[in-house]
Amino acid sequence: MIDRARLEAQFAHMRGISAPGEGGPGIYRLAFTDADWQGRTYLMRLMQEAGLALREDAFGNVIGRMEGTDPALPVVLFGSHADSVPGGGNFDGVLGILAAIETARSLNEDGFRPEHPLEVVLFLCEESSRFGAATLGSRAMLGELTVEEAHRYRDKDGISLYKAMTARGLEPEALGKPLHPGPVKAFFEVHIEQGKVLEHEGKEIGLVTGIAAPTRFRVRLTGSADHSGATPMALRHDAACAAAEIVLAAEVLAQAENDPPAVATVGMLQIEPGVMNVIPGTATLGVDIRSIDDDVKARVAKRLQRRVREIGERRGVAVDIEPISDERPVAISPKVLDFLEEIARESGCSYRRMPSGAGHDAMHWAERVPAGMLFIPCKDGLSHNPNESAKMEDILTVTRLLEKAVRRASRKDTRLE
Ligand SMILES: [Zn+2]
Repeated sequence: MIDRARLEAQFAHMRGISAPGEGGPGIYRLAFTDADWQGRTYLMRLMQEAGLALREDAFGNVIGRMEGTDPALPVVLFGSHADSVPGGGNFDGVLGILAAIETARSLNEDGFRPEHPLEVVLFLCEESSRFGAATLGSRAMLGELTVEEAHRYRDKDGISLYKAMTARGLEPEALGKPLHPGPVKAFFEVHIEQGKVLEHEGKEIGLVTGIAAPTRFRVRLTGSADHSGATPMALRHDAACAAAEIVLAAEVLAQAENDPPAVATVGMLQIEPGVMNVIPGTATLGVDIRSIDDDVKARVAKRLQRRVREIGERRGVAVDIEPISDERPVAISPKVLDFLEEIARESGCSYRRMPSGAGHDAMHWAERVPAGMLFIPCKDGLSHNPNESAKMEDILTVTRLLEKAVRRASRKDTRLE
């Protein structure tokens, strides 16, 4: 049975594992640091107590296995990460790995014998905070992370991922080939929502329909930096006014998409010369557009860029659009979604289908194997924040759902493809 007191004690323990931060509150458990390793050691102990057979891969990812009655069958894999951002909270990642270990422990205590082997996985280096790139443990397991990248990614002190791995006795030279032997029947990850939707709607569970990925571009507007007193309104080429129109156009165009939704943000806006008595001559905007549907995202980006050109033309402001990135969103298979929805419905909890706006380890698995994610609300939608918080009732609910999902997926007669 899923044990509340055990989970409470484990969350409390993880909260205490943190490097002294730069004076700020919150958890500092950056990938491959001493604090991260201390957390990893603790979680390995929990996996052992759960009756799992442990192994580590060349990247340092930890896998705890419960053998299936037929060891040759594809594995049911579930877990998450335990590294944090600087000044992070106690639930991002931690929820997923503790729920996974508790699930295994509960199954073991029940004397459950899965047909397919079960593997709990602790992914390393999910956060991009230290090396500027995210979900490296998953990418390494799937053979998508190269030795060359390990040399290239560096932290703020200039230490490369390669060096950080070597210092931990790991094998960066093994990167580039899959570290997980496979095959994998299904992958499940539990996570806090990191947004406000579930809390706002009073739902206990979010069934993730897909994981959004950003399209980003920079817009540079060049007008004319004239005297703010001597230039009549009709003779201006004000880059800030053009920028303001673009910000609102991004909002309107994203709002027009509902099925599935899109979000667009101008999170960066610089105006020059930035003095009160000069009309802004240039403006630079950073645009970030996301959706779980590639076509929807591409449509918003295309329409917005067309609007940017129209606005520039009308105002006599020169426009330069520079693409930054265009990542592919990941869809969750309808079969896995239905599978998880059935379990949620049977359990009598309140739920909704929803996209994930943030990236997760699950997105790499979802591209290759049947994969699903379950969200729970977090207080005020806060994440990557010392005040990150989730209710124990919701943690228990989602852990019970995970246990059911794993139990059912481990049967030979459950087809998820
Ligand atoms: Zn996370």
